[in-house]
Amino acid sequence: MYRREVAPRVRRESCVTLIVAALVFGMFAISDYHFVGLGPALYLLLAMRLVVVVSCLVLAFVIGRVGDYSRRMWLHALPLWILATAIILIVPLRPESLPTQVTAVVVATMAFYLLIPNLLPVVATASLYLNLGFLAAAVMAADTPAVVVLRISLLLIMTNAVGFFALLRLETLQRRQFALLEEERVQNRQLVEEIAHRKSLEAQLRSVAEQDGLTGLDARGHFMERARELLQRAQFDRSPFSLFMIDVDHFKAINDNWGHGQGDSVLKAIAETCKASLRPQDVIGRFGGEEFIVALPDTHPKDAQMVAERLQQKVSELAVMEAIPDHRLTVTIGIAGVLDEATDLDALIHQADQALYAGKHGGRNRVVVSQEVEGEA
Ligand code: GH3
Ligand code: MG
Ligand code: MG
Repeated sequence: MYRREVAPRVRRESCVTLIVAALVFGMFAISDYHFVGLGPALYLLLAMRLVVVVSCLVLAFVIGRVGDYSRRMWLHALPLWILATAIILIVPLRPESLPTQVTAVVVATMAFYLLIPNLLPVVATASLYLNLGFLAAAVMAADTPAVVVLRISLLLIMTNAVGFFALLRLETLQRRQFALLEEERVQNRQLVEEIAHRKSLEAQLRSVAEQDGLTGLDARGHFMERARELLQRAQFDRSPFSLFMIDVDHFKAINDNWGHGQGDSVLKAIAETCKASLRPQDVIGRFGGEEFIVALPDTHPKDAQMVAERLQQKVSELAVMEAIPDHRLTVTIGIAGVLDEATDLDALIHQADQALYAGKHGGRNRVVVSQEVEGEA
C-alpha cells in the first residue's frame, strides 16, 4: 500500500534524478580529456559515457511512460546497475585518476541509498556490486598498493554502513508514518459512516415521532406544532383560519363486523381522501383513533363548510370494503373558525369538538359549523 501511495511521486522523481545523473555523468567527459588527453583512451571513455547517458535518458523516458513503481520496481533499479558498471569501467580506462574516483564512488554509493526509496535490499546489492567491482578494478587495472586498497575498503564500508542504516531508519519511519495515516483515514471513514448512520436514524426517529404510522398523516403532537404556527401567522396577518374535526361514523361497527384490518383500510382510505381533496397548505393530522383534524389557513368558516361538504361527499363515494361494495362510509365534521386574536388552538379544537358532538347528536353524516362562529356571523 505504501509503495502504491508513493508510486506517482517516485516515478516523477526517478525521471528527474535519472536525467540529472545522466547529464552529470556526461559532463565528466571534461575531466576525461584533462586526464588522458586526445587519443584512443578518450574515445573509448566518450563512447562509454555516451552509451550510459543515452541509456539513462531512454530509461527516464520509459519510466515516465510505464514506470509504475508499485509494479515495475526493477525498472527503477536498473539505472543503478548501469551507472555502477560505468563507474567501475572508468578505472581501467583512466587508471591514473583513482584518488578522485574514490570520491565519486562514495558519492554514488550515498546517492544509491538515498534516491531509490523503499528498495533497501536491491540498493544494498547494487552498492556492494559497485564497491567490490571498483576495488577489484583498482587492484587489477590500476596497480593500487594493498594498503591503499585497505584504506579505500574501510572508507567504502563506512559509506555503506551510513547509507544502509540511514535508509533503514528513514524507511521504517516513513512506513510507520504511512501506517498511522492509513489508520487515521480508516477511522475518519468509519466516523463519516457513523455520522451518516446516526443522521439516518435521527431522520427515522423524527419521522416516527412526527408521522402517524398507519395513515402517514401528521401525528397529533406534530400537527399541534404546525397548526399553532399557522394560527399565529393568520392572527398576525388578520387572515381567516378554520379547523375541521372529522370523525368516522359508526366506526366501531366496522371493526366489530369486518375486523380491525378492514377498519385500518378504511382509516387509510379516508386519510388519502383528505390529502387528495384538500390544498397542499392545509395541515392534516390524525387526532386519535378514527378522528382526523385539519387546519385550513386563509379559509373563512363559510368556505370551510363547502370544503367539508365536498370531503364528506368524497368519503361517501369510497368503496373500501370489497366484501360489501355498496356500504357507504360516512363522516361527521365539526368546523371552528378564528373569532378574535385571543382564540388559541386549544379553544378552536374545543369548538370544533362541540360542533362535531352536535353533528353526532343530530344524526351523523353531516357538517356542523361551531355555534360560536355562527353566532359571530
Ligand atoms: P360514532 O359514530 O359515535 O363516532 O361511533 P364510532 O363507533 O365511530 O366511535 P367509537 O368511539 O365508539 O369507536 C371508535 C373505534 O375506533 C373504537 C376503536 O377500537 C377504534 N379504533 C381506534 N383506533 C383504531 C385503529 O387504529 N384501527 C382500527 N381498526 N380501529 C381503531
Ligand atoms: Mg371518535
Ligand atoms: Mg366515530
